[in-house]
Amino acid sequence: MFVTEIRNIPYFDGHCDTIYDCMGKGRSLRENCGHVDLMRGQRYGRRAQFFALFDNVRELPEGTAWTKLCQMHDWFCAQAAENADVMALCRTGAEVDAAAAQHKTAALLSIEGADLLDCDMAHLETAASWGVRLLNPVWNNANALCGSCAQEPERGLSARGVEFVARMEELGIYVDVSHISDAGFWDVLRRAKRPVTASHSNSREPGLCPHRRNLTDDMFRAIRDTGGVVGINLYADFVGGDSMEQLIAHIERFLSLDGEKTVALGGDLDGCEALAAGFSGVQDVAKLYQALEERGYPQTLLEDIFWNNWRRIL
Ligand SMILES: [Zn+2]
Repeated sequence: MFVTEIRNIPYFDGHCDTIYDCMGKGRSLRENCGHVDLMRGQRYGRRAQFFALFDNVRELPEGTAWTKLCQMHDWFCAQAAENADVMALCRTGAEVDAAAAQHKTAALLSIEGADLLDCDMAHLETAASWGVRLLNPVWNNANALCGSCAQEPERGLSARGVEFVARMEELGIYVDVSHISDAGFWDVLRRAKRPVTASHSNSREPGLCPHRRNLTDDMFRAIRDTGGVVGINLYADFVGGDSMEQLIAHIERFLSLDGEKTVALGGDLDGCEALAAGFSGVQDVAKLYQALEERGYPQTLLEDIFWNNWRRIL
């Protein structure tokens, strides 16, 4: 049986917390002992990664969230400059293609939780000027825009939330509904004019992983119908088990919902403790590609899941 080697496998991932992890632990992006570093990423044929700017605002001194976000952005830009031989900051699909052609990690920015922007419209404009393309209106802490899946889950978008999300779409920043309350999810989907994403969420259906961070079949279909993307999360707690079989079951569920152009990767690497399928980092995701290949997945479908579905919306 022919199995594609990692050097020929594409890898486009929608969510990692590597910036937070590296800054907090004083590690470099180039080489570290966490889940993701640039040198291990280089093993892939092509690689693109959304790097999330994230912190838990409740653990920061009052009124310092925006300053912290700017510091994280500065740190990331400095890392990009230091590692320009293996990484390129990108904001468009054309830039992603150019980085991949030069065998560099195409690095895209996202923000996990608008409370890092003080839920402020002027700060949102600044984030857009940095090239941020994906943003979660809310992380686990409910905020002025919306309730989260973990806090005030019955609260949907506020008037300010509606305005904020509409402005995101105008600025070319995709709404990322991972972590949002169910009420907020439907408020976003009802109003969406652009594709909606769930960058790191699995299936919530019985037998899979009935966790509030995951999506019901109806939620998946609604995202699919916007032309959006759902990234498969590798965190064992959201997979609902740690086997390769259990992980693949989420992909199969989404594919059974006509999700061929919707399912992608969103591993949550460096944002969780234990990865499923015995994975210990970015280098192991190739094994998922190979396992799907062994199940007879055609190359075109693998290319969609591992590259095209994220690439298409940029
Ligand atoms: Zn997250």
